[in-house]
Amino acid sequence: MSEKRKYKKRFCKYCEAKVDFMDYKDVGALRFSLSERYKIMPRRLTGNCKRHQDMISTVIKRARAAALVPYTVTRKTVVNAPFENLK
Ligand SMILES: [Zn+2]
Repeated sequence: MSEKRKYKKRFCKYCEAKVDFMDYKDVGALRFSLSERYKIMPRRLTGNCKRHQDMISTVIKRARAAALVPYTVTRKTVVNAPFENLK
């Protein structure tokens, strides 16, 4: 699977949506910044600005601690739709 294709456009989604605050309970919004293995997407792929990337990383770490987002994924979970259980 080519990961580069998916992130062709370089702009901060969160700036466009004018996000000033992120809720760690709003996992649906975090999905955009998580890879298939629930890793935080690097800024060079998502095009997020520094400010929002920092917000995302804290929020995702918080969500992980609250067990809303898994830290790791087993092989089985990856094969099936990765974000199904987040909705
Ligand atoms: Zn931004």
